[in-house]
Amino acid sequence: MLTIRLSGHEHFYPLCDVARLFTGVIPKVVDNVICVDVEYPALIESRLENGTVSTHVVEGFPDLPASFRDISSQEDLPSSRECKRQLYILLSRALGKSFPWGALTGIRPTQVAREVEKEEDLTRIYQVREDKAHLAFLTMKEEDAVLEKTDPDSLHVYIGIPFCPTRCAYCSFVAHEAPQKTSLLPSYVDAMLREMELVLPKIGKPIETLYIGGGTPTVLDEVLFEKFIKGVFSHDAFSSLKELTVEAGRPDTITKRKLEILRNVGITRICINPQTLSDATLLRVGRKHTAEDYLRCFEMAVEMGFSVINTDLIAGLPGEGSEEFCDSLSRIVALAPANITVHSLSKKRRSDLTREDVLRQEEEELLKMEKMLSFSFSTLREAGYVPYYLYKQKDTIGGHENVGYCRPGTECIYNVAMMSDQRSVLSFGAGGMSKRVFLEEGNVRVERCSCIKDPIQYIREVEKMAEKKVSFFQ
Ligand code: SF4
Repeated sequence: MLTIRLSGHEHFYPLCDVARLFTGVIPKVVDNVICVDVEYPALIESRLENGTVSTHVVEGFPDLPASFRDISSQEDLPSSRECKRQLYILLSRALGKSFPWGALTGIRPTQVAREVEKEEDLTRIYQVREDKAHLAFLTMKEEDAVLEKTDPDSLHVYIGIPFCPTRCAYCSFVAHEAPQKTSLLPSYVDAMLREMELVLPKIGKPIETLYIGGGTPTVLDEVLFEKFIKGVFSHDAFSSLKELTVEAGRPDTITKRKLEILRNVGITRICINPQTLSDATLLRVGRKHTAEDYLRCFEMAVEMGFSVINTDLIAGLPGEGSEEFCDSLSRIVALAPANITVHSLSKKRRSDLTREDVLRQEEEELLKMEKMLSFSFSTLREAGYVPYYLYKQKDTIGGHENVGYCRPGTECIYNVAMMSDQRSVLSFGAGGMSKRVFLEEGNVRVERCSCIKDPIQYIREVEKMAEKKVSFFQ
């Protein structure tokens, strides 16, 4: 058992994140001590005393030289970050491991890039590998350029339809399989439209972007889809948007009629996501479509005039080698979509892939991931794409990132507004998270307002949810 004793502070979560990254085991907090179920016994103390953080090995790691067992020199950082940074360095020395993003285990590395002066600072302070520090800076500059195009006081709207035709094996979202809930879909659409009707007239902020995501919004049948899209666009609040995006997502839900419905209300930006162009992998992860289905939908959307198409790929899908991933990416690049988003597989506990508490990663898996992501970066940069938004999820293989690449000028503003935590977001639908961002003299303060996740309960309590949102934004 590895135990981490905290003294003079309660920064459990950041320290659990670091322990989880190194061990692949989800730590437990018992009587104010972090316990990690690993085969080696060790005790580490993380102490905050008179404003000074120190970390040292109390017991265990017999081979670790004495000069490596204590860290007391600290950077000028908030204590929670300093505790995390020191634990990262100590475990890195003790276990002989390092990770590409170093001590940056949070969701938004570009936020930290904004706080330091240069790439080297990310490496020196947080042990971020040079290529990732470069990626963070490059992306941060693109993010800032996108944010410049938006009013700091603007609002960005998300509408979520948490249903999919089948559940992908790696999915950790609150996605419900639509075929089992068909009878629920009309009431769910009605509830969302009702929520918008109650909330939108009372929000006195300019809405700049609208993103309809999921799940898979195109899982609705054509009649219901038309009712939903027409209902959404009947609101004056959406009459002067800078950008509208619909996640058409799964190719097995896209029809010519649904694309016509989108085009008729002026939507030119959609996502069509194969995740891989290997049919064997698609079958393995439970996506009931083929690479050919994706190619057909992509071609149809281009012919119909959708000018910005995003395509998602996932590196690290089960059973895939780097050859399959690189082949998928090369074939997608040849199609020249405006946006390509490369995700690193996250071994989320709630997914069908990962049911246990142990998320260990094999050396071979880590090397494969490195190869796939560096191929993505070099291939996409050579093809003229720039990384314009970036975020990390917990439990990705090797602690890697998800990156949105785009052809210059085709960035999705909503993605940047949402992921940068620099703009307010109003969410509709079950499980949506609204947030208010307060930009105060260089400081960013974010308040969040969650919505009921269960669609049945959401339908029942939609009026209550609407009231909650209205008062949240007042
Ligand atoms: S399409 Fe996306 S949201 Fe739906 S099941 Fe697959 S991963 Fe989950």
